[in-house]
Amino acid sequence: MPESPNKLTTRCCIVGGGPAGMMLGFLLARSGIEVVVLEKHKDFLRDFRGDTIHPSTLELLVELGLLDEFLKLPHQELRAVHGTIEGQEIPIADFAHLPTKCKFIAFMPQWDFLNFLAEKAKQFPTFHLHLETKATDLIEENGQVVGVRATSLTGELAIRADIVVGTDGRASLIREKAGLPVQDFGVPIDVLWMRIPKDPLLGEQSLGYFKAGQFMVLIDRQEYFQCGYIIPKGQFETHKQRGIAALQADILRMAPFIGDHIRELKSWDQISLLTVKIDRLRQWAKPGLLCIGDAAHAMSPAGGVGVNMAIQDAVATANLLTASLQKGPVTMTELDRIQRRRLWPIRIIQAGQIFVHRRFINASIDKPSSFPPFAIWFLKHVPFVRRIPAYLVGVGPLPEHIQTKAK
Ligand SMILES: Cc1cc2nc3c(=O)[nH]c(=O)nc-3n(C[C@H](O)[C@H](O)[C@H](O)COP(=O)(O)OP(=O)(O)OC[C@H]3O[C@@H](n4cnc5c(N)ncnc54)[C@H](O)[C@@H]3O)c2cc1C
Repeated sequence: MPESPNKLTTRCCIVGGGPAGMMLGFLLARSGIEVVVLEKHKDFLRDFRGDTIHPSTLELLVELGLLDEFLKLPHQELRAVHGTIEGQEIPIADFAHLPTKCKFIAFMPQWDFLNFLAEKAKQFPTFHLHLETKATDLIEENGQVVGVRATSLTGELAIRADIVVGTDGRASLIREKAGLPVQDFGVPIDVLWMRIPKDPLLGEQSLGYFKAGQFMVLIDRQEYFQCGYIIPKGQFETHKQRGIAALQADILRMAPFIGDHIRELKSWDQISLLTVKIDRLRQWAKPGLLCIGDAAHAMSPAGGVGVNMAIQDAVATANLLTASLQKGPVTMTELDRIQRRRLWPIRIIQAGQIFVHRRFINASIDKPSSFPPFAIWFLKHVPFVRRIPAYLVGVGPLPEHIQTKAK
């Protein structure tokens, strides 16, 4: 495959080793297609990623024969979601009735999931993962994308490919370089992302906390809580001026069981600002190029479904392109088919996220949002109602299935 130290030719070049890119790379390589995945970081060890592996993604691992091995990795199984609303614990979603083998969300640091996919993919000789390799531009000839330029530790790299797939997330360079038009839906929040040590003896706690217009998520990572604290967009500086003690007090008000551990959150250096957006490309493809995952449709953390959607996009892409890629280049008609298939499930989920942000999670201090009492009553007293959020979050509209064969 290598032609010279700085030139490569492959069938498919995937830019971005997140959930969408790694799943697509794995599936194409499994079908014997030459694939190069570029990832700008040196490993997958990053904090700012969703930690949720959904029942529909676990179902894909069943179809691939990988589930048993995957579940040997350390994880927690979330069989129902509870929220604490104004101090009251409310059951929100119950996964027990899902039409999937695993009736739970597996909570696992995303780096473990991506390492697992990478290890499996590396077993195929046609899979090539280039870490610390950052795409910098597209190579275009006669209106057709024919490859990617990148920088790596060994210098500049030019990768020619029959198809380039942008899976480089919500700040996608690929979609920008391709000039694909974006529709921005605007989200009124950002997230402060931090670790808070926890008492090892503490039992299971709620996932979401809502009090007087403030909202926070606590992901239990065994030794510590990964905390996502919602703030109004652009208000990070205002929070800094209030001081760390005010933030500690806000967090404790919502989750008093954190207790003295909150004091270990001492400085703003321990806190990252994650900007949240919801947007969608009007057109996901142009000749020689396709965008999927957050690069095609940035998802907010609401519902924790972005990883699942990115993986579903990857499976649909592999299902629709593998036969053609085994022979040669793919046509615009085939690329458009992927957008047509994935657009409506994404539209439904994004519309739901926009509704949730406007109605429940806007973090506005002037106009604090609140949960309607009737919704709380139904969730508490009519167990059937909890199946609806469980299905939307756990499976989602139009779950994909593996249709490609291992070579
Ligand atoms: C605060 C926050 C919390 C969230 N929590 C959850 C959650 O709990 N569950 C959930 O399902 N979703 C969650 N989401 C959404 C989820 O993170 C995304 O929808 C999902 O990661 C999209 O996957 P992806 O593969 O498309 O992109 P990404 O996960 O963003 O992966 C893109 C990859 O491309 C790489 N890359 C970028 N540019 C380049 C380049 N030029 N060259 C090479 N590589 C490049 C990046 O390093 C990265 O590895 C959250 C989002 C936010 C903002």
